[in-house]
Amino acid sequence: MSTIRKQMITILEETPCSARDLSQKLRIAEREVYPHLQHVSRTLHSRRKQLKILPFSCLSCGYVFTRRNRYTRPGKCPACRKTYIQEPEYFIPAT
Ligand SMILES: [Zn+2]
Repeated sequence: MSTIRKQMITILEETPCSARDLSQKLRIAEREVYPHLQHVSRTLHSRRKQLKILPFSCLSCGYVFTRRNRYTRPGKCPACRKTYIQEPEYFIPAT
């Protein structure tokens, strides 16, 4: 596993982070965070751990994205169609 993914797991076990937080902590581009998250998720699965996403919401109308489980950033709110959406945060709960 790459050093970046190991660091990512260590960070997410300690504190929930958005993709932007991770990009700053790991010094990589935000768009590079998402494929790493997907890989981390698969790695964790084999260790009986899970990468979770905290529920996040539309900052315009308050719509809560509860069913989303892909590790990407949503484009727009399905309720009001605006793009003012809170950053989702990822974390790894202790088992
Ligand atoms: Zn909305």
